Amino acid sequence: MIAENNPALQSWIEVSSQSDFPIQNLPFGIFQPKAADYGRVGVRIGDHVIDLSMLVELGYFDALNLEDPTVFHAGALNDFIALGRPVWRAVRASVSKLLQHDQPLLRDNEEDKKQVIYPISEVVMHLPVIVNDYTDFYSSIEHATNVGTMFRDPNNALLPNWRHLPVGYHGRASSIIVSGTPFHRPKGQIKPDENPPIFSATQRLDFELEMAFVVGKDTQLGESVSTQTAEEHIFGMVLFNDWSARDIQKWEYVPLGPFLGKSFASTISPWIVTLDALEPFRTSPPVQEPAVLDYLKTTGNTNFDIQLTVAIQPEGQAETIVCESNFKYMYWSIHQQLAHQTVNGCPVTIGDLYASGTISGKEASSYGSMLELAWKGTKPLTLKDGTTRKFIQDHDTIIMRGWAEKEGVRIGFGECTGKVLPTK
Ligand code: MN
Repeated sequence: MIAENNPALQSWIEVSSQSDFPIQNLPFGIFQPKAADYGRVGVRIGDHVIDLSMLVELGYFDALNLEDPTVFHAGALNDFIALGRPVWRAVRASVSKLLQHDQPLLRDNEEDKKQVIYPISEVVMHLPVIVNDYTDFYSSIEHATNVGTMFRDPNNALLPNWRHLPVGYHGRASSIIVSGTPFHRPKGQIKPDENPPIFSATQRLDFELEMAFVVGKDTQLGESVSTQTAEEHIFGMVLFNDWSARDIQKWEYVPLGPFLGKSFASTISPWIVTLDALEPFRTSPPVQEPAVLDYLKTTGNTNFDIQLTVAIQPEGQAETIVCESNFKYMYWSIHQQLAHQTVNGCPVTIGDLYASGTISGKEASSYGSMLELAWKGTKPLTLKDGTTRKFIQDHDTIIMRGWAEKEGVRIGFGECTGKVLPTK
């Protein structure tokens, strides 16, 4: 067991049992104190943020002999990530130690605590990384089957390549936004049945419940990452909402795939949970049949048991949970996705995001998009306020949550939220 994951660990910072951020998590993010004018690297614990740039200033990381201690004064995690996995681990271990209940060094230094610890209510979260590239996969067999059933052939829902490779497309990194950032309903070409295309705001705005991994190590042109070494290239994971305009998508996607129906916004959660923190929640992947080619073969527990929910909150109303899914349903693992992405020698860069694709389970209540939940608009959902939804309305907020739980330890991602404003 990784020492920092020990369920017995407790912190001198109070953490509620329902918090996503106990001392066993310690995810990394970029925060800005409301009173300050720039962001810096922080670690979340309970309802507080630990300022790593101040820990450096005050000498708490001296023993780490960091090659570049200025990485924590940055507005993105990329330079810290570039120091490598042994450094991420040493920093997480060091922060864990400082926060353990029987460690007086910071606990009993009131002056330092004032400079290092911020209540979450007094900070603003930024995008955690500069994202150079973003790929969206399509790796849930239930989701791909549902979409194939709706739009093609219920008896032959999966396309012939689907069980042989993790299908994906290149998304736009430029429109990735951090949780809490609102956006306007996008406009574009849509084609009403039997009529010529028109220019319109999307009438079928959807969410897609996804997770994404963040690349932790660059590769060079011509280099491929194997499934066996993939985890050395992965810094951690976030929740990911791949907002989708179904009507724009439907008209534009043939023959080259998703384009403007996707690239108007994609929302991620602000805290990157490390693979080390997720280690206790490994679970076995599904059996892949037919067997995959050698470069996609994996051994061991390559999936993670992470519970996921999606809620819709109309303006001024209570939220309604409309989906309960789990990351363990994924047919293709993150190892296979990275191996496939790089098999042709395409380089990946620190901070790149690789999203899973919509995560649906077998039950109708676990479908990860409105398209599936309301089955193409034929089964509208009823919310707590009595209103119904086939797709997302203006002023709705979509809230995604994810957490893993075992032996009384809850490792969570917090929230990934976004509010839809009327079209501009
Ligand atoms: Mn997607």
